[in-house]
Amino acid sequence: MARRKLKKSSPSGVQQTGRRITLNPKLARRSFLKISAATAALSGAAMTTKLTSRANAATAQKAQFAGSKKVRTICTYCAVGCGIEAEVQNGVWVRQEIAQDHPVSRGAHCCKGAGAIDMVTSPKRLKNPMKRVNGKWTNISWDQAMDEISAKLLEIREKDGPDALHFNGSAKVSTEMAYLHRKFAAFWGSNNVDHQARI
Ligand code: SF4
Repeated sequence: MARRKLKKSSPSGVQQTGRRITLNPKLARRSFLKISAATAALSGAAMTTKLTSRANAATAQKAQFAGSKKVRTICTYCAVGCGIEAEVQNGVWVRQEIAQDHPVSRGAHCCKGAGAIDMVTSPKRLKNPMKRVNGKWTNISWDQAMDEISAKLLEIREKDGPDALHFNGSAKVSTEMAYLHRKFAAFWGSNNVDHQARI
């Protein structure tokens, strides 16, 4: 290799000649290990700071909401039934914790359950029907939504028959909602009913 013939070697392990720079494989490896160790140490320090600040934030949040009470409940996102300890203030769910001693979840939640409180408090939660008009999502009334959707459904059944529709259930719905969902499909005239987890 042409680069092995280079004569000068700098203390940093980099051989130089003229304007060309070539790495000495042995020293370069050592330098690389040093740099890696330093980078890991710095990353570790940064990570520790991040985790500590998160822990501090978590500790700061431990203070109870004034006049609140703890209510033991279960996550309704699926049939597993993990335990949630809800903090309720004046009838409003204000914070959730994992129920550490729950016999089903044993102190753990999946990501859906960990954010279960967002069903109540998230600013992104949908509170009314929306329709995309000229590419923009717009709030519409429940009456308008019901009228437009039912007209569209009837149009589909008229044109392609009742089996042109599929009724897709959800792990989120309650037993009663699942019953009504199945009933609706039966009255509609189709057996195309299934659950989202099976698809
Ligand atoms: S936390 Fe996850 S696994 Fe547990 S009940 Fe809720 S959705 Fe199901």
